[in-house]
Amino acid sequence: MINEKVIDTHLHVEGWTNEESNFVDCFEQYRNEMGLYAINLCAVPTVQRNVCNNIQCALYKLAHENTYAHGGLDHIKWPISEDMPAGMDLVTQYRELMEIGFDGIKMLEAKPSHHKKNGLDLNTPPLDRVFAEIERDGTHLILHSNDPEEFWYESMKDQVKPGWWYGDGTYATHEQVYEQTEKMLANHPNIKVTLAHFYFCGKRPEKLEALFEKYPNLCVDITQGGEMYHAFEANHDFFRDFFIKHSKRILLGTDSTYPWGTNVYNWLIDRTYRFVATDDKMSGFGDKELTGIKLPTEAREDILWRNFERRVGEKPREINKDALRRYIEKYKHLMSEDEWTNLKPSIDKYL
Ligand SMILES: [Zn+2]
Repeated sequence: MINEKVIDTHLHVEGWTNEESNFVDCFEQYRNEMGLYAINLCAVPTVQRNVCNNIQCALYKLAHENTYAHGGLDHIKWPISEDMPAGMDLVTQYRELMEIGFDGIKMLEAKPSHHKKNGLDLNTPPLDRVFAEIERDGTHLILHSNDPEEFWYESMKDQVKPGWWYGDGTYATHEQVYEQTEKMLANHPNIKVTLAHFYFCGKRPEKLEALFEKYPNLCVDITQGGEMYHAFEANHDFFRDFFIKHSKRILLGTDSTYPWGTNVYNWLIDRTYRFVATDDKMSGFGDKELTGIKLPTEAREDILWRNFERRVGEKPREINKDALRRYIEKYKHLMSEDEWTNLKPSIDKYL
């Protein structure tokens, strides 16, 4: 149990039920056990579950207050092109999600695996138009861009998750993904974007500092990747100063994913929270030691909850049930039979 206000700004749902619980009960248990003020679910329809993932997050918002959710675009077919089924272009999808009442947009489009599927161009016009709308509306975007540079190393080939090794020449390089992301930022300098996982800059914080300087609405989150915490540990005093200096630019999250279970979520939030708020020495990620940076009150509160509220709002947006019903009807044909069978009871219960 954490005895101060904390928002976990980065969670995912993959699936509806397991032997022990359904997705809502499982995250509610997590929230209650750890005393979290609010959570933010990030839908990633690009991964495998198409629009079901958005619908699931919207239903959760109906089930429990103080639940934020970021919706995601369904690319429907690969790579991204102008040739989309009528009325399902990415800008229309973006507007539908906002009408439903999502609090922002989550994109995995610059994670190298998805970037490849999308056609290796983050700034392709159909996607660029969405960035333009997001910037214009002041919508919050959580963008997963890049991955640890080790994921390109020959020596890591058999050590990363299947599909996450990028060294065979068919993916963009680590630097190319950075270049494309920074081109997007240059094209949309006021976009309210949070780059997930510290933008994988644990070893090159000066890169982040330069971006903070240039783009006033840019933040990062400290959702694991353990490698980031190894970098913090290796350079403990430097990063304590960095976190104080840039406390308005850092958000906290865990990447907790249903159905991993509360044991995992509780551990992740405990380590992440204690890293920010205490000077505890603890076993950290990948069994390496982690020492808390014990930030002063204001910097700590910025990171634990205030930055997220500042960017997304002090209250989650309300779900527009009619808009959600229209969305379900419109995209139903994209769902697998399994997904639809799993979705139906939750629709009946919450909508
Ligand atoms: Zn994530």
